Amino acid sequence: MGVSVGIDLGTTFSAVAIIGQDGLPRIVENSEFEKTTPSVIQFRDGEIVFGSEAKEAFSAGDPNCAAFFKRNMGLYKPYGTFGGRSYTAEELSGMLLKHIKSSAENTLGSAIDEAVITVPAYFYSKEREATMEAARLAGLKVRKIINEPTAAVIAYGLNNWRVNANILVYDLGGGTFDVTLVRMGENQVLRTLATTGNRFLGGVDWDERIESLLVEKILESTRFDASESERFKHLLKGSAEGLKKQMSQKSSSKLTIRIPEYGKVTSEISKAEFDQATVDLLEMTGIMCATVLKSAGASWKDVSDTLLVGGSTRMPQVREYLQKLSGKPPIAHVNPDEAVALGAAVQTILADTECVDGPGARIESRLIKPVGASKKISAKSVPNIKLNEVTTHPMGVIAINPEGTMYINELIIPANHQIPTRQARSFKYATSAYGSNELEIYVLQGDRKPLDCVIPYKYVATGIKHGATPETTIRIQYSYDQNGIIHVQARQGDSKTDLPIRKEPVPEDMSMYGKPIEKRPPAPEPLSIMLAIDTSGSMYGAPMQEAKMAMASFVNQFKSRMIGGTARIGILAFTYGPETVLRLTSDPAQCLSAIETIERYGRSGIHPLDGIKSELREAPGRKCSIVLTDGEWSDGGTAIPAAKKCHEAGIEIAAIGFGYFDRAFLSSISSSDANAFLVSRGELESAFGTIAQSLGTQASPKAGEKSRDTQNSEVWDID
Ligand code: ADP
Ligand code: MG
Repeated sequence: MGVSVGIDLGTTFSAVAIIGQDGLPRIVENSEFEKTTPSVIQFRDGEIVFGSEAKEAFSAGDPNCAAFFKRNMGLYKPYGTFGGRSYTAEELSGMLLKHIKSSAENTLGSAIDEAVITVPAYFYSKEREATMEAARLAGLKVRKIINEPTAAVIAYGLNNWRVNANILVYDLGGGTFDVTLVRMGENQVLRTLATTGNRFLGGVDWDERIESLLVEKILESTRFDASESERFKHLLKGSAEGLKKQMSQKSSSKLTIRIPEYGKVTSEISKAEFDQATVDLLEMTGIMCATVLKSAGASWKDVSDTLLVGGSTRMPQVREYLQKLSGKPPIAHVNPDEAVALGAAVQTILADTECVDGPGARIESRLIKPVGASKKISAKSVPNIKLNEVTTHPMGVIAINPEGTMYINELIIPANHQIPTRQARSFKYATSAYGSNELEIYVLQGDRKPLDCVIPYKYVATGIKHGATPETTIRIQYSYDQNGIIHVQARQGDSKTDLPIRKEPVPEDMSMYGKPIEKRPPAPEPLSIMLAIDTSGSMYGAPMQEAKMAMASFVNQFKSRMIGGTARIGILAFTYGPETVLRLTSDPAQCLSAIETIERYGRSGIHPLDGIKSELREAPGRKCSIVLTDGEWSDGGTAIPAAKKCHEAGIEIAAIGFGYFDRAFLSSISSSDANAFLVSRGELESAFGTIAQSLGTQASPKAGEKSRDTQNSEVWDID
């Protein structure tokens, strides 16, 4: 079995560390005896070169070099074409990791098969997954992904643990910046309080300002515009970093170049000029420090120490600026190039951690037997620092606001929430009676409007069942694992099993989620209607034909509501007693053919209105019955109490009488006088039509959309 290492996979430099015989982490040098390896790859004819040699070629302007690809992690798009083949950032990182691994194996004399890899704290889920993918390509098993600032504090905390100290980690690397507030707790629990960052702010931005200063100086002294020439732009780019580093030691730096038709020109940049040209960059970092303090509910006076990480914190102005902000000198005795890898190495000896959700939850970790080179250490001598990290980004889902007018970001997990965590939320979802009931779940990272967030994933939950009501509840659960990767699950109603879910690429065009939603009528209340028809002898012939046509046209008016699942119709026939011809259904075709079959029906024994009641009692939504009859019932006065029982059960009755009739009887069984219709032959259809209109024949809401429901749901386990 091979050994476990910690790897700092940096934008500009990477480093490897391992736990040594003494139980303390140490850097593993690469094959060139360097402690860090530049994260640059050069594609020479048929040969691939990594590290310092590649970096030199890159600085000299060789276009066959890949650098800064970490910035594109998670995009899964071609980063560049080298040697006639295009590569993604994941592939390039995989190649680099493989090189770093084999170089370290050379030094160690043993195989490496597992690593704790660090990523910037603000890395999104997708970028973390991309890092796992790169490791897989390099043949490395990932023990865990941890955040760079956390790793730095682990390294620092080995010899400097002070219970309840709040450490502000200021990490300014080559291409990225992040700032994190971490608390050293009791029992060596390290707790991240808040974190933020910018992946497009780093040393290279300072380099670019030097390039611009150089262009200005050259233009002043020679009237030659170097920014117009690709060759000179490359040359200045290659020199800028060196000049910047010189200014970390000296008060100025000089560059001499040969300008065509002009000769040798020396441009000098003073430290004061450099500081002035870059002060806004520093201030941007200051603003992010303030943001982090604010989200942790702290201020500078709560910061026990500021820990500087990342090569760019070697610039003296960074130290001065932080001293000004925090009121005390930043910690100087951590090597910014090595701290992150060292901290990662410490995590290689910890077992997988478990976490109890909720505020104040502690992540517990056990110590496991160290592997490989560290085999002989006793557990006691191993630093056992446990992590208690938080989500960097709030996470939500695209939903519809309660007014149904626009798409909103409904938060599921807030920022700075402890991880790992699971959070679930319920949404109302309009099902369709027919067709596929699928719910699109767009994961949002950020707490702004949907299109102002990062949308890392699209999931589609399938197999949603259409029930008695047109709306169902779907519970969406997000889990944020130990590695900062999101998992999504969905369940319908109270179901204990997950809906089948598939991942789909996020569409290029998401613009519809930024536009207002066309106003739609609110979801109508579900309707359950029993059509009850008198089939006694006097109805035979033409009256029955007319009644059937009127009922059919009634059903047709509810067709779209039935298909939409918001109306169901059943049929009952009666003479002395009732008989159910068709139970409530949302299938209009079934209804229409049942109407055709109506003949003489009816059992004696129970009252027709009791038959209606038993069909409708358990039905959802608004319950009503339309009773069509052609003569007063000779039932000895039982109709009125039976009708009363229906009304008490929440069933509305409309009565249509035709032929020779007493209006008072119709009124006595109807829910109100307005629901009693005394009509002549030929008017039946219009009476049914009036009732249909009053019940509302408009269609159901568009199926397949979820709207906000403020309810939090209980979480469940990942299968
Ligand atoms: P990353 O973690 O992004 O790979 P590092 O933490 O290794 O980056 O920092 C690399 C950056 O630090 C580069 O921009 C480099 O120019 C800068 N840097 C390194 N040494 C110095 C120095 N002495 N003065 C100023 N900047 C430096
Ligand atoms: Mg770094």
